[in-house]
Amino acid sequence: MSIAENLAEVRSRIAAAAGRAGRATDDVTLVAVSKTFSAEVVREAVAAGQTVFGENKVQEGLVKIPELPDRLEWHLIGHLQSNKIRKALAVFPWIETVDSLERAEQIERVADEEGLFPKALLQVNVADDSAKFGFSVEAARRDLDALLELERVEIRGLMTIPAFDPDPEKSRPHFAALRELRDELAAAAGIPLPDLSMGMSHDYEVAVEEGATFVRVGSAIFGERKSILSQQGSQQG
Ligand SMILES: *Cc1c(COP(=O)(O)O)cnc(C)c1O
Repeated sequence: MSIAENLAEVRSRIAAAAGRAGRATDDVTLVAVSKTFSAEVVREAVAAGQTVFGENKVQEGLVKIPELPDRLEWHLIGHLQSNKIRKALAVFPWIETVDSLERAEQIERVADEEGLFPKALLQVNVADDSAKFGFSVEAARRDLDALLELERVEIRGLMTIPAFDPDPEKSRPHFAALRELRDELAAAAGIPLPDLSMGMSHDYEVAVEEGATFVRVGSAIFGERKSILSQQGSQQG
């Protein structure tokens, strides 16, 4: 299967899942995760109409993104170290992995210096509070007001990465929990938090059924990544 065929398949599965949930297909944005694949490969996806892409490493984005058309929208989906914020903001208008109030405040300062207004998601561990990065549910509740006071960083919603389980139904309760937490936080703050980033190649259909507005799909579009290290690299800077 070509990248164009894979994209068509993923898009039609997203549409079907949205239909089952009574949602509009347009409410779901496919973030094509191009980590480990070259700009040349990304261009094939662009030729097939894909415009939104995700990378998990700042350094890889800095090399790849400038080689590609300006009109693409890039999402950082891996852990952001404080010393890479400036470089990250230069190429990623979306940071999906804001994982502490301290990091959000650091991003705010750099965004102010650079004259930028990054969009952000709070990475929340709804499943496993021992996960290395991310807000616990309690911390998200506690820090929400301070996060919403930031003037540059626009908190658009929540993101989660449940522990991998090949059975997509195992992800469903975590996706539902993220949606419920979003509903609770939005009600408490009195503002919409419209976006939910959840679901990967093996469980994006379930995520769409549970309310995802972003699904992060890599291998179902680009094929298997070569390095095991890269596959596990979602939490690397
Ligand atoms: C790599 C990665 C994905 C995509 O994974 P696939 O299983 O290839 O679809 C999604 N989200 C994050 C955070 C990732 O690091």
